[in-house]
Amino acid sequence: PPRRSHISRAQFAAELTQCLVEFVVQLLPTQDELSIKEDVRKLLERLIRTIEPDSRLLSFGSTANGFSLRNSDMDLCCLIDSEDRLPATDLVNMLGDLFARETKFHIKPLPHARIPIVKLSLDPQPGLPYGIACDIGFENRLALENTRLLMCYAMIDPMRVRTLVLFLKVWCKRRKINSPYKGTLSSYGYVLLVIYFLVHVKNPPVLPNLQQIPPLRPISQDETHINGFNVWFFDDVNLLRQRWQSQNTESVAELLIDFFKFYSRDFAYNTGVASIRAGLLTKESKGWDNDPDKGTARERNRLCIEDPFETNFNVSRCVTRDGLYTIRGEFMRASRILAARPDRAFVALAQLCE
Ligand code: ATP
Ligand code: MG
Repeated sequence: PPRRSHISRAQFAAELTQCLVEFVVQLLPTQDELSIKEDVRKLLERLIRTIEPDSRLLSFGSTANGFSLRNSDMDLCCLIDSEDRLPATDLVNMLGDLFARETKFHIKPLPHARIPIVKLSLDPQPGLPYGIACDIGFENRLALENTRLLMCYAMIDPMRVRTLVLFLKVWCKRRKINSPYKGTLSSYGYVLLVIYFLVHVKNPPVLPNLQQIPPLRPISQDETHINGFNVWFFDDVNLLRQRWQSQNTESVAELLIDFFKFYSRDFAYNTGVASIRAGLLTKESKGWDNDPDKGTARERNRLCIEDPFETNFNVSRCVTRDGLYTIRGEFMRASRILAARPDRAFVALAQLCE
């Protein structure tokens, strides 16, 4: 059984909150890094426009949603505002050649991937000790919207939401459970787990459900749908902050402790789907449960997190049986460390991220 220390629950939570905030601040990207990345985006956009004059190159993922750590990769999306654009496969090949000629980046075009992308990387150099890794995709408008949704959630309560998310991103990388290619969960998946917890598990909630707040004026289908998916959400955060105040006053540490507890033992992994849009759903209602004719369905849906907009897509479909076992083991380990309440909160933090 965990050793009970002398320090009270409240005192431990207060100290841990302060530690978490200080820890996360050190890991934010520097102003230099941000401006170098913005320069890179502009350079690449200028080059792309020599091939497609009506194109824009936009950031998405962590560089654009407020959840980026030092040296995180750049996710870029190229939008082309013209009718007769080149097929993505051709563009990927042409841009690959162009970037190789005109820049110092190492280039890897992947024209035949499920989503064609160009991968670019820059070696470490002074002022950029970890180099840059960057993916350019095309017409990924849903990703731009889910980035904007996460950014709005972060802006509603920056102190609690950003601290929790950034800490969990560091923690899952340090604990090596952040590799979709190896059967664990993407950063995007962990961020969705945090938002789900703050909107639907905590009572009173820390965040409102932005996809369920009615719009201020009637809106047509055209304005709300992309590729057949409803991407509407309440995005006027300034107005929302005037009109809505969370009744939940828990600190970052209290929320973190509860987050680990919830995902170690309370979430219905076998039957449930975490949906930010609609709360807890069942695998059965989504057709994500075991189907004897399609033996793989169960394998692909060990852990189910519904994408906020692409609702037929399980964001955590890469998580394998072993991967989920490892992830839950890590949630339990974290819970145990925090329940033992070491006398000094920073010791708990160091153990968590060992
Ligand atoms: P990091 O800082 O670790 O790169 P990130 O916030 O950029 O984290 P990623 O996992 O790199 O998160 O994802 C970047 C973006 O790509 C997400 O905001 C999302 O739009 C899209 N994305 C990534 N993984 C998925 C997925 N499994 N399903 C749908 N969209 C995804
Ligand atoms: Mg990223």
